[in-house]
Amino acid sequence: MAILVIAEHDNASLKVATLNAVTAAAKIGGEIHLLVAGANLGAVSAAAAKIAGVTKVLVADAPQLEAHTAENLAALIKSIAAGYSHVLAPATTSGKNVLPRVAALLDVAQISEITAVESPDTFVRPIYAGNALATVQSADAVKVITVRTTAFDAAAGEGGSAAVEAIAAPADTGLSRLVGREVTKSSRPELAAAKIVVSGGRGLGSGENYRAVLEPLADKLGAALGASRAAVDAGYVPNDFQVGQTGKIVAPQLYIAVAISGAIQHLAGMKESKVIVAINKDADAPIFQVADYGLVADLTTAVPELVKALG
Ligand SMILES: Cc1cc2nc3c(=O)[nH]c(=O)nc-3n(C[C@H](O)[C@H](O)[C@H](O)COP(=O)(O)OP(=O)(O)OC[C@H]3O[C@@H](n4cnc5c(N)ncnc54)[C@H](O)[C@@H]3O)c2cc1C
Repeated sequence: MAILVIAEHDNASLKVATLNAVTAAAKIGGEIHLLVAGANLGAVSAAAAKIAGVTKVLVADAPQLEAHTAENLAALIKSIAAGYSHVLAPATTSGKNVLPRVAALLDVAQISEITAVESPDTFVRPIYAGNALATVQSADAVKVITVRTTAFDAAAGEGGSAAVEAIAAPADTGLSRLVGREVTKSSRPELAAAKIVVSGGRGLGSGENYRAVLEPLADKLGAALGASRAAVDAGYVPNDFQVGQTGKIVAPQLYIAVAISGAIQHLAGMKESKVIVAINKDADAPIFQVADYGLVADLTTAVPELVKALG
């Protein structure tokens, strides 16, 4: 039986997280089908058909799917899931919203945030905020899985030539309705996919200070901006900046943590970064235990000096 991967997109372009989920599907082995659900999907389905390793793209293009409400998506996925051995989605906000509903509708256990595939029924997933790895085996007929995107390389977005097939969507469930969408507009790279992340913590003191100190550094490096939960809770930045156990999981080439103490819940979201730089005035801050480069200094002098040195 084939594997179904749920594509993540905004009805205009495909999100990179989809490509990570395709790689996880390839590790399971078997034919890979991609489900593209939404409205006005011409460009997205054309891009989906080019993904290397995907043999079929199922396109459900219907007005009741335009807002991607989890209830309508879950009903759609349930309607086709019986033909698949596995249903995969990236463990993003959307994937984590939809797939548990699919698992419940199919009466199977969800397997969350896998980081490795041992065999078609056995997977590795972090537990206790990443402090232990559980190897779980599932006997369910359909395995419903979310994929930690940072654990799998992106599949090639070009080179494939999948067949595209239109499928019917179930009627509107009427269970939820999109009332409005507040989209953060930013010219910076997307946090979860950025190669460089500059993150700030409570030590920044205020939203104004966060922006005044960290934006010039992020601009110089072409980096995405992130934050600790304390900085988000204090209102310095919106909560889609949050990195950590209850925020985004990132694994960039370079992660710069400014005035972040390094609580275990923060480390859970960034400790797989390739190079970690920490700037903190407290030499005993736990962040230094995971940092490749640590600077014990006051951010008000260290960060502007760094920006200046970058030229
Ligand atoms: C269930 C649960 C889930 C959680 N999820 C998350 C999560 O997803 N992400 C997350 O980040 N946290 C999360 N937390 C919160 C976490 O436990 C910490 O409270 C939080 O990460 C602390 O943020 P911080 O490092 O910015 O603040 P603090 O711990 O207050 O650290 C501030 C740091 O700034 C330094 N500092 C202060 N002033 C300066 C200066 N002028 N120059 C240089 N350094 C300075 C200090 O030395 C200190 O180390 C979670 C907690 C729980 C219980």
